[in-house]
Amino acid sequence: MPRLFVVSGPSGVGKSTILRKLVPRVPGLSFAVSHTTRPKRAGERDGRDYHFVTDEEFDRLVKEGAFVEWARVHLHRYGTSKEALRAGGTDDLLIEVDVQGADALREQVPEAVTIFIKPPAFEDLETRLTGRGRESGPEVEKRLETATGEMRRAASYDHRITNDRVEDTVERLQELVERVRE
Ligand code: 5GP
Repeated sequence: MPRLFVVSGPSGVGKSTILRKLVPRVPGLSFAVSHTTRPKRAGERDGRDYHFVTDEEFDRLVKEGAFVEWARVHLHRYGTSKEALRAGGTDDLLIEVDVQGADALREQVPEAVTIFIKPPAFEDLETRLTGRGRESGPEVEKRLETATGEMRRAASYDHRITNDRVEDTVERLQELVERVRE
């Protein structure tokens, strides 16, 4: 059975950058590609970062029972499909979900290893979210509001890693994965 590494952390903490660097460094580790109704950002690729779908398509997948878990996060819907868990074959899987998704996965796969990535300070999230200029004002507000709630849930994860420097964080995550596999 492939192991599941479930990673959460507030928007703006740098999760995507970290996970994208981690995957190629760890043989036998694949990224589970989620579905989302959020619009694609510049630099993102359909099928690599997410499966980008319409609201209607997402509704259809929910009705078909295609998801292991799905949730409304910020202003959009996101879900982990059964297919995404199969796509990695025998590889261990890295799954990026919000705190609701982590709750659902923990329940269904109790042996899943859960990891929460924290910012060095809450203010860093605001700096990053406004600095990257990717989200609109209301979207940034929404993400910061969600982040407050998410940070309170950090204690329910098996491991917590503070993202001081991306390279260090990637290394600590790699060590963690290797330790769990031993
Ligand atoms: P973003 O829009 O910044 O890519 O992601 C927003 C949030 O959705 C992040 O907290 C991310 O972890 C979460 N997310 C991404 N994929 C999934 C998923 O499949 N399920 C759930 N529950 N959350 C997800």
